[in-house]
Amino acid sequence: MSEPVLLPESNPFAAYEQAGFTADLCVKCNICTSACPVAPITDLFPGPKTVGPQAQRFRYDGGRGAESPDKSVDYCSGCGVCSLVCPHGVKIMEMNTRAREALYDEHIPLRNRVLGRSELLGKLGHRFAPVLNFGMGLRPARIIAEKVIGIHRDAPLPRWSFQSFREWFSRNQPAAKAPYRGQIAYFHSCAGNYYDTVVSKAAVLVLAHNGYEVLLPEQNCCGLPMQSNGEFSTARAYATRNLDSLAEYVCKGIPIVGASTSCTLSLKSDYREILQLEHPDRELVSAQVYDISEFLLEAHRRGELKTDFHALPLDSMILYHAPCQQKLHHIGQPALDLFALIPGLQVRPSDAACCGIAGTYGVKVEKYDIAMKVGEPLFEQVREIGADQPVICDSETCRWQITGATGAYSLHPVQVLAAAYGLMEFYG
Ligand code: SF4
Ligand code: SF4
Repeated sequence: MSEPVLLPESNPFAAYEQAGFTADLCVKCNICTSACPVAPITDLFPGPKTVGPQAQRFRYDGGRGAESPDKSVDYCSGCGVCSLVCPHGVKIMEMNTRAREALYDEHIPLRNRVLGRSELLGKLGHRFAPVLNFGMGLRPARIIAEKVIGIHRDAPLPRWSFQSFREWFSRNQPAAKAPYRGQIAYFHSCAGNYYDTVVSKAAVLVLAHNGYEVLLPEQNCCGLPMQSNGEFSTARAYATRNLDSLAEYVCKGIPIVGASTSCTLSLKSDYREILQLEHPDRELVSAQVYDISEFLLEAHRRGELKTDFHALPLDSMILYHAPCQQKLHHIGQPALDLFALIPGLQVRPSDAACCGIAGTYGVKVEKYDIAMKVGEPLFEQVREIGADQPVICDSETCRWQITGATGAYSLHPVQVLAAAYGLMEFYG
């Protein structure tokens, strides 16, 4: 009698993880091309169908992404609108991003390496925040930066916060109010630790107000800025360290919550779909990561969210723009449901596809004009409501873009909640 053939244990995600395989699902309907915000703006980018599934047939090499047959894939902003709208589940943005890895083949331009190092820049720079913020506001400095490194002179850049969020937290950790709801691990991201620290403060104050004990795990940059700039091997190293640390919390039943929607998306899905990271705890962590608005709305549905909100000092409606990365969570727009709990708050949801910035895409000198044109429908809506009214958006780079383009004050949804609870000033 012959011996049974033993097959290796199958991985149910194996085929699904290969974004390139989904190219075969394309029926050439061109829905993605009509929805792509970049394709109508520039002839340098022929659109998602052409650069995605069509080009993939010439570049597929077993999943790791051989070099693209043309260089136009670099003009894909990675916004993900195409993957959202494709009725056949083609992972267009994911395959384009992977093709960019092969395009650069680790020969990453200095500018891209700098833009990928938001955490290092934050760590080195925050102690010199007043000087750097002043210096980066000077026209000659911006012109030099454009000429030397290729960062557009008018591109929106973050401002350093002198005190990091972790430093603030070590002295001001808010106590969980009654009734106690348990522990959460907060993923603050680079922006939340060194630049937009006010958002992290708002998030932990809101969580503590609702009975959560906030823990700060060891963490580093999620890796997205490197991934978007073609530096996959470094992004994978960062992602691995994050998973090593966060898995310890998840194993104890502690969920991971973050207020930077692109970073939580990285933890949830980019590590699998784009980096194809092989880590034993990847799915374990992914399943327990929450965007802050998603987490708070879930708490509300369980009847655990406090609703002692006060009216905000506003005399007209405010605009809420759900960024592309937030939409890729596939959780609806929980911020809108939370805003409905605040007395008298009138919110107009933006119907613009994208603000154009797409992380670091729109700060590059050759892409700045494209990004500004992509964002124009959103900027127009901001102007209609009045640039003296705040604009609400879940992504820091999108907030910087909106403020840079329109002058409007921009806030994260959790800042609105913190102000309505009376935990922070509305324009804090
Ligand atoms: S929307 Fe999907 S199926 Fe239609 S052309 Fe684009 S990739 Fe192909
Ligand atoms: S990710 Fe955005 S820019 Fe790139 S092809 Fe898709 S829709 Fe167009």
